[in-house]
Amino acid sequence: MIVVFLSPPGGGKGTQAPRLARQIGAEHLSTGVIFRSMYEANDPLGIKAHDEYWGKGQLCPDGITIPLVEKKLAELEGAVLDGFPRNIAQAEALDRMVKVDAVVSLSITEQTALERLGYRAECKACNITYGLANKPLNKGECNSCHGQLNMRNDDADAAIIRQRFEQYETKTKLLLEYYRKNGNLHEIDGNQDPERVYVDILRALRLDA
Ligand code: ADP
Ligand code: ADP
Ligand code: ZN
Repeated sequence: MIVVFLSPPGGGKGTQAPRLARQIGAEHLSTGVIFRSMYEANDPLGIKAHDEYWGKGQLCPDGITIPLVEKKLAELEGAVLDGFPRNIAQAEALDRMVKVDAVVSLSITEQTALERLGYRAECKACNITYGLANKPLNKGECNSCHGQLNMRNDDADAAIIRQRFEQYETKTKLLLEYYRKNGNLHEIDGNQDPERVYVDILRALRLDA
């Protein structure tokens, strides 16, 4: 099964997608995680993607992004895609790779998303995201490895956050119409508490029985 998650920054993709992936026995595939890991690993393409694009709040070019996803998807049976596609060209490329079974759009007010990003922190060792939906037991410390939690660089700068919202508004939002036409779009109220959001997702995908 292939499920796509769409939302503005802070909408809850990274919170809900891994949970759904575990439940349906699919892999969680986040392009944001891929880009951050490549950067951390000093991969030349990862450094270019950071310095010229995602580090400034711009989308990375399709010529970099699409092949990365294609390579990963070729190794997987099922996937929950978090952060891909983010524009029409990527959606068309995805349709050529696999059959998308369902698309979940988490809608959220910009004010709520901004507030959430202010609390978001990650453990780079475990790739775990913390915040209002997943609070660390000890402040600033990963529950799993006890490593230090850090804010994402692109969450720490108001101008970069604004840029990312603009990218969502002008490019990613067009995908709502794209998938609505295909008849597999499920729109969920992402402003609710995380449990409620998850229940709504399961119900929309008819996995709640
Ligand atoms: P968020 O959780 O705030 O929505 P992500 O972790 O999904 O952000 O992505 C971080 C950044 O990585 C994005 O702002 C963008 O620059 C880049 N990125 C992620 N996915 C894509 C994509 N599909 N196409 C282009 N750039 C992407
Ligand atoms: P995205 O991947 O769409 O950018 P995340 O899942 O990383 O969003 O969520 C952004 C931040 O908001 C995280 O710190 C997370 O803990 C928190 N969060 C996610 N969903 C909710 C929710 N329903 N209510 C409150 N906080 C949430
Ligand atoms: Zn950790």
